[in-house]
Amino acid sequence: MKEFLFYVIFALSSITYFVGFSELGRSSRKSIIDRLYFMSAVFSAGWGMFIGLVLIQTDADTAAVFRAIGMVHIIGLLICFTNMIIYWSDIRGRVKRWTACFVWLGVLLYPFLVQRQNVEFSMTAYGMSYRIKPGIWSAVYVAYCSVTAVNMMILIIHMLRRSIHKRERDIAYAMMLCVFIVGFGCAMDAMLQMMGFAALPISTLAQFAAQIVLCRTYRFDNESRVTLENMSKFVYYSVDEPVFVFDEGEHLCIVNNGATIFLGLSAEECCKLQMSDIFVLDRDVFRFRGNKSRVEARCWQKNNICSISIDKIYDDYMDIIGYIVIVHDVTERVRMLERLEREKRRADKANEAKSAFLANMSHEIRTPINAVMGMNEMILRECEEPAIAEYARNIQNASKTLLVLINDILDFSKIESGMMEVIEEEYSLRDMLGALKTECIMRAEEKGLALNFVVPPDTPNDLMGDEVRVRQILLNILTNAVKYTMKGSVTMTVSHEKVTPDVEQFTFAVADTGIGIKEENIDRLFGKFDRVDEEQVHAIEGTGLGLSIVDRLLKLMQGSVTVESVYGQGSVFTVHLQQKVVSDEKVGVLGDDRKKNEKRRKDTTLFVAPDAKILAVDDNKVNLTVIRGLLRKTKVQVTCASSGRECLECVAKEQYDIILLDHMMPAMDGIETLEEMKKMPDNKSRDARVIVLTANAMAGVREMYLEKGFDDYLSKPIDGTLLEQLLMKYLSPECIIQGVE
Ligand code: ADP
Repeated sequence: MKEFLFYVIFALSSITYFVGFSELGRSSRKSIIDRLYFMSAVFSAGWGMFIGLVLIQTDADTAAVFRAIGMVHIIGLLICFTNMIIYWSDIRGRVKRWTACFVWLGVLLYPFLVQRQNVEFSMTAYGMSYRIKPGIWSAVYVAYCSVTAVNMMILIIHMLRRSIHKRERDIAYAMMLCVFIVGFGCAMDAMLQMMGFAALPISTLAQFAAQIVLCRTYRFDNESRVTLENMSKFVYYSVDEPVFVFDEGEHLCIVNNGATIFLGLSAEECCKLQMSDIFVLDRDVFRFRGNKSRVEARCWQKNNICSISIDKIYDDYMDIIGYIVIVHDVTERVRMLERLEREKRRADKANEAKSAFLANMSHEIRTPINAVMGMNEMILRECEEPAIAEYARNIQNASKTLLVLINDILDFSKIESGMMEVIEEEYSLRDMLGALKTECIMRAEEKGLALNFVVPPDTPNDLMGDEVRVRQILLNILTNAVKYTMKGSVTMTVSHEKVTPDVEQFTFAVADTGIGIKEENIDRLFGKFDRVDEEQVHAIEGTGLGLSIVDRLLKLMQGSVTVESVYGQGSVFTVHLQQKVVSDEKVGVLGDDRKKNEKRRKDTTLFVAPDAKILAVDDNKVNLTVIRGLLRKTKVQVTCASSGRECLECVAKEQYDIILLDHMMPAMDGIETLEEMKKMPDNKSRDARVIVLTANAMAGVREMYLEKGFDDYLSKPIDGTLLEQLLMKYLSPECIIQGVE
């Protein structure tokens, strides 16, 4: 009998060990409750095993040793039990401390409980039995067990009272059952002994029953926790994206709700499908390298475009057990991209058409003005009659105004269409301010105005920025100041402040003593085609475009312009602009550049180069006449060609020093002509400098021409002085004779 009982207990202990270990292995988190459950299983199994061993002993002393080891497990189990209840009841504070400490008293009690003289062993029909001899230690042990049981019950009641969820109550009831089962077992043991019956290890068997309840409770609690294992199922079913799981044989096994909705089939119907039944695929999508693959395919059912991601699932030996397929319906996105692409192409085309139109307009308008201005310049140079010279000067002024107007309109439409670019280059502030002064001084003096430039000598000189545009902005404001001032002065004051070691904040303030602007009109100044105070300004030439260009250009360069004005007394236009400083060079004292420029102008006109050979190529006969006329005084030998083809014939025959080549010509344009010229084996003018002459004056074209291989750029209408300066620059000094009247 005792052997049978021992084997039963041994089997139960083994099962308890096994369950404890497997639960510990399953739990990925290993939290405190996982560890407590595992320890309780170990103690429960140890309790059974060693008390079972006591049963089959014949020698009381050996039995006492096994009982002593068994007692370790009994106390250990009580500690684990109590702590699990503390954990689940979520109690804090004094009660928790008291309960937790009290149960540990068992450790102090242990040495007395296992003392040989305190325990009595006797052989019974069911094997070796024992009891603690009545006395103080038996009473203390009973008290310890009873108080521990009461403590546990208090915690469980507390848990029941404050539980919100049904699962918490279920756990509380289960733990109550555990305490009751163990308590009942111990009570039965004690009672049977008191009644003189041979002791059956009822408490040992009962604690196994309690362990079964505890195991179920632990599992139930585990399933109710937010863990990766528990949540993955919910996540799988709750995602809207269709998710398919295929087995190794590529049969669809599991589908989520998203997938059934996507296919419009039930889960059972879905599971009869293969990948190729769902998507239009021209290859075996499951044969790929690596763990993940992404393909685009159309769905048979709805013809929608899908982006499919496929993940391989592996077993512990890294053999494939299946595939997870997640489907993203990208139909809307693809259609939208196609729409956007179409819109972009349309917009690009419109933009190209606009640029072509602008370039064309620029060319078409400038060509006749070129003729007018060129011819007029010749009249001015050659006419002895003062009255006719006066008419010619009027024509010159009107054509200059017309040119400014055309430039403004072209610039404005470029800014509006977003095609205006800021091209940064190194420039000298001193030179730019000098040129500005030279350009304005004539008009200012004609009106009897003083034009002052106040520039601190320590102002940085070498800057990085779009010189052309900065100059355009300041010139516009200066010209306005001169235009709208009848008497007094116009003063440009430059100041600067360091922003970072290589960036300076510049302030260009242009103050005039002119007609001023009414306060209510100041906001309107920068509107397009808006001229304010019409009755005052109608007699003064203008379109109302200048300031709006200034404002927009400054915005492009992250700058700004502000206005202060007293009506009838004058205005101050202030430009704020940051520029990079590229060297330590300072502006120094600004000289009187007008005299210098006039001298330079004279210098350039006072040279002849009778040996220099120049080839002028333009399809417009008038332009050729203008070039000839402008260069007459220099006595250079000018050959004219009216097409690219003719130009090639000329360079095959003659060695020229400079070729002035028009860009827009029918049949072969200037760029093609240059390319052909460079390829020609019999080009006698291989060393000639080629300067492009063009009516295309859009920003950025200069760089484009230089990139194409031209040596320099001259825009139409041709400025006679600039043309002569270019000749001076590129002709070899030996063929230039200076200082000739
Ligand atoms: P425009 O000078 O061609 O008319 P702008 O855009 O340059 O066009 O100037 C817009 C308006 O602002 C001008 O018509 C004029 O009424 C006013 N304005 C500009 N500068 C001054 C100034 N310095 N003094 C007084 N009024 C000015």
